[in-house]
This record gives sequence, C-alpha cells and structure tokens, in this order.
Amino acid sequence: MTSPLLPVFARAELSFEKGEGPWLYGRDGQRYLDFGAGIAVNALGHAHPRLVKALTEQASKIWHTSNLYQIPEGERLARRLVENTFADVVFFTNSGAEANEAAVKMARRYHYVNGHPERFHIITFEGAFHGRTLATIAAGGQAKYLEGFGPKVEGFDQVPFNDLGALKAAIGPQTAALMIEPIQGESGVRPVDAAFMKELRALCDQHGLLLIFDEVQTGVGRTGKLFAYELTGVKPDIMSVAKGIGGGFPMGACLATAEAAKGMTVGTHGTTFGGNPLAMAVGSAVLDVVLEPGFLQEVERKGLLLKQRLAELKDRHPGIIAEVRGQGLIMGIRTIVPNTDFIAAARAQKLILVAAGDNVVRLLPPLIISDADITEAFNRLDAACAAMEAELKKTAQPGAAQ
Ligand SMILES: *Cc1c(COP(=O)(O)O)cnc(C)c1O
Repeated sequence: MTSPLLPVFARAELSFEKGEGPWLYGRDGQRYLDFGAGIAVNALGHAHPRLVKALTEQASKIWHTSNLYQIPEGERLARRLVENTFADVVFFTNSGAEANEAAVKMARRYHYVNGHPERFHIITFEGAFHGRTLATIAAGGQAKYLEGFGPKVEGFDQVPFNDLGALKAAIGPQTAALMIEPIQGESGVRPVDAAFMKELRALCDQHGLLLIFDEVQTGVGRTGKLFAYELTGVKPDIMSVAKGIGGGFPMGACLATAEAAKGMTVGTHGTTFGGNPLAMAVGSAVLDVVLEPGFLQEVERKGLLLKQRLAELKDRHPGIIAEVRGQGLIMGIRTIVPNTDFIAAARAQKLILVAAGDNVVRLLPPLIISDADITEAFNRLDAACAAMEAELKKTAQPGAAQ
C-alpha cells in the first residue's frame, strides 16, 4: 500500500503507540530505549507527568487567541527565559527554522535602522544546519538541500568551520552578522573551539556585527548548561531555540538583547500560531523542571557518565568505533562501519539512535535519563557492536560462514 504522505522522509518500518520516560512502546509489541528523543526534542522523555498536566489543564481552558491579545502564559515564559539568559526580549515561533528566520530578519533590520541597509549579509559555517525554509537552506549552504529549489536566497556567505583566517577575509562592508551552532548537530556533533568562539565575539565587537547562536539543538539543558553558550562564556546578541523547549510540543523562540532587537517594531514581523497558550503552558512546564535546583548539574554528571561508557565501548570495539565526541547529553560516535548499519544494529537491540553527517551516530537521550538506563544503553550498544563484528568476520572469511 503506498502512503499518501509526501515521500520526503526515509522512514523506518516502525511506529510507536506509547511512551513513558525514556521508553517507547512499538506497535511491533517491543519496548525500545529512546536515545534519540525525537531528535533532541523530548527533553523530559515521554508522557512526563508535569507536561501532561500543563497541557491538559491548558487545553481545558483556552487553546488559541491570536497575538492580537495579551497572552499571560507567554509573558511568564519569556520573563523566565530573559531572567536566565543574556536576552532582554523573546519572540515565540513554531519551529527552529522560523526562529532562525526571525534571527536573520532581526539582524538585517538592526543595520537598516542604523542607516546601513547594505549590511544584510550573514556569514555562516561549513557543515551548518539552520532549517529547511528558503532562507535557512541558503544559510546552511548545503548543496543537497539547495538543489532544484531555484536561486539561493541572497546574503549568505559561508566559510570553513573553525578557520579564523577565512572568516576574517569574508567580513566586508555588507556583513551584518555571524551565525553559528555552538555544537554542530546535524553535521556530526562538531563542537566549535572555545578559543574560536571568543574570536567570533571579538570580531563582532570590532566590526559592529551581531553574533547569532543557533541553539535549536544544543539549548534547554542538552549540554548540561541551560544554553551551550554558557560553556564558553561567550554571549550572543541573538539566539534561536526550538526542539527541547517544548518537550515535544512544537514551538521555538528567538531571543535577543534590546539593542539587537531595536529594529523589530510593531508590524515588522509576526506569526499566527507562535506563542499560542498551549505551547506556552508546556514550554513553561519544561523550563520549570529544567531550572529546578540540581537538574542541570545532574545532566552534566550523566553526560560525563555516558561519555565514559562510550570511551569504554570504543576501547572494546576498535574495529567499529573511530571517535567519541560531544558534551553533556549530545554525544556523537563516529563509526568505521556505515553509521546507518550501526543504527540498524542498535535498533535490533531495541535501542533508538539518530544518524548525523560525517558518518556519526548521535546519542540524544532525554535529560531525565537514569544511570541505570545509561548502563542499559551501554549493554545494548555493546551487543550491537559484537553483532556487527561477527558480521564483519563472516564477510572477511566467506568460508567460515558456511
Ligand atoms: C533542527 C534544527 C533546526 C531546524 O528546526 P526545525 O524545527 O526543523 O525547523 C535549525 N537549527 C538547528 C541547529 C537544528 O538542529
């Protein structure tokens, strides 16, 4: 039976009917340990009681009013984000790409109101992923996402990752901002050097540019900090957030300093759904949990534990694993075998992982993962690696397989 869904995704032959914490219950009757969390979205796992309560209580009161009226739930969430970050103002969106669109528009508009409409170019970095809208595929600059979709949106210049010389050479009279993920997620969990981050800030200050961090994947506790920029102490002027902030409810946000946002006056930007009361109630509940004393320290501790276990796994299976990298609960395993084979072998052990570029497998467990479930994941990964090794042995010695 062919599906009526637009076939843009290569979907696995697997669906789920229920989730509980880090566990997913498949319609195949099997229970899976979820180390993908819907690509870093289900920050508090599945069916977290606080989120279920927030959503159902809000659902019985009011779902949607439009942004023509005050939305107190959004005021509260924005205030909490402002109190806990570099930012002064927040614009709520429905997705990461829309948060980035808002960031790009804001940066262009900042220079426009400063009397420099010619400064609309944003410098981005090779391997970047910023979303799938026309502007964000131009920002990401990846040929495979741009192909066939007409002229690339103007005003995005790309330079190599962690290459200061190339970056300096690319800054010109038209440059408005630099935009970067503190850890590149989609292209393979590639962290930006701390020293490079500091250089970015210095260059922005020197040339009057805005610094935009895309924390759609790294934000809301994923790295053990509320936002990854806290790891280096380098503050952006504008930051996009999505994925984890809704814990599974679709929402995003663009945060900024008052200065960076000064061009965004009444009527310059908008959204129908963004900041809707349902999203705001759930987002508030997510933040309440993540900001509870000790929660982020626990994420940091569990991230270290996971990293240690993965280093052990690499030592045990040097023919399968080339490198382990990442921070907190966004970890990448660069594999020697095709990463898709690794993911399939893990799925056979009922462990869910996510592919990334650079032949990397991402581990993105919910932030509420327990030590016992990290050990469980290790055991399943160990079994998956052993199964792949047995396969490799068979193909290396065809005679032995008979
Ligand atoms: C997922 C992602 C996006 C796009 O988010 P959508 O909600 O799919 O639009 C943008 N930037 C980064 C870093 C991401 O990981």
